[in-house]
Amino acid sequence: MAYRVPRHQSVEHRTRRQNRLAGLTALVLLWSLVLVMALVAERGIARQHLPWKPLSIVDPVGMATRIKAARAGADPATCRAILRKAGLSYEEVPEKTDGGFCTVRDALRIDGGMAGLSPTDAPMVCKEALALSIWERQVVQPAAYEVLGQGVVGLEHYGTYSCRRQYGRTAGPVSEHATADAIDLAGFRLADGQTVYVARDWNDPGPKGQFLRRVRDGACRVFITTLSPDFNAEHHDHFHLDMHGWSKCA
Ligand SMILES: [Zn+2]
Repeated sequence: MAYRVPRHQSVEHRTRRQNRLAGLTALVLLWSLVLVMALVAERGIARQHLPWKPLSIVDPVGMATRIKAARAGADPATCRAILRKAGLSYEEVPEKTDGGFCTVRDALRIDGGMAGLSPTDAPMVCKEALALSIWERQVVQPAAYEVLGQGVVGLEHYGTYSCRRQYGRTAGPVSEHATADAIDLAGFRLADGQTVYVARDWNDPGPKGQFLRRVRDGACRVFITTLSPDFNAEHHDHFHLDMHGWSKCA
């Protein structure tokens, strides 16, 4: 049996006390660091990057925009207050159920304050309207002015609400369109009357193609799901933009 040097009891006590003290100091230092970082974030970082700051449509798109839009959009009163504050007008869409999996709840139709939707009958849940208005103001318009030298006056789409399963199949997952939680964006009407269409201009090497890629990439930072012609052949002529389910950008 190996010989162990007997340790004095007071030495062991001292070592335990020192370890406890070191642990406590490290904890205090860690919390101080967290506090300083939070203070720096509050003062030095723009609110669109901070998830705990309220969402505003007039803020540029930031790291926290998508999560804030999803959260604010889930509360009907908060969602509408943000829309109104940014100068958007809308009419309420009465709740309806088309039987089975198709329901429209907490939906509205935007009728002012952004580029007009065509067709105008585009009921969508409030969080989708919120994301669409952020994207229009903070992504589409700046990209249009920068790349095409003018603003967008109209958004052409293939629909928002549609009582169906994904890709119109008879079985399989229910489409986000069945709850008015999505829009299929087909093209843009510019101030001088020109148009930019996903179907026609996606592969255009010039400004129109460049504009479409810019707004697709920007949509990925606002919507939960953004699907473009890069995703599959079904999306060759539109962007599917929704605020539902898992995050996807393609
Ligand atoms: Zn769609």
